[in-house]
Amino acid sequence: MKRLVSALPLFFTAATLFAQRATPSVSPNSSPSTEDAAAAAAAATGLAGVGVACCIVYFLLIAAAIGAWIFTAIWIMRDAKSRQSENAQLVTVLGWIPFTWVIALIVHLVTRPKGNLVACPNCQKKRLEGSAVCPHCGRP
Ligand SMILES: [Zn+2]
Repeated sequence: MKRLVSALPLFFTAATLFAQRATPSVSPNSSPSTEDAAAAAAAATGLAGVGVACCIVYFLLIAAAIGAWIFTAIWIMRDAKSRQSENAQLVTVLGWIPFTWVIALIVHLVTRPKGNLVACPNCQKKRLEGSAVCPHCGRP
């Protein structure tokens, strides 16, 4: 760690020198090829920046997609059980498989028993209004 810290000023000096060389110079001595190289370096740096930004956005999108998937899978699992859906097992399994959870969501929304969910008087968990027995505690 100490060696790293002592090497930092050297690194910054090198970076400054490099940056100064990379800036377009107005001196007449500089050959066009040097300026071209500097422009190419600047363009490459810009491209790298865009690439990094794209990567961050890309990973954020993936994280959002995974979050939506897990949220939906949990919701399908709970809603299917609370409503005592005939397809509860099917839509729960499909909901936890990547790329089929959208299908599971559609199937569940179409085939689930319609009605209001009310709190069970025994266990306070959600159950379908008018259901014979509670799917969570088994009491009427
Ligand atoms: Zn209950």
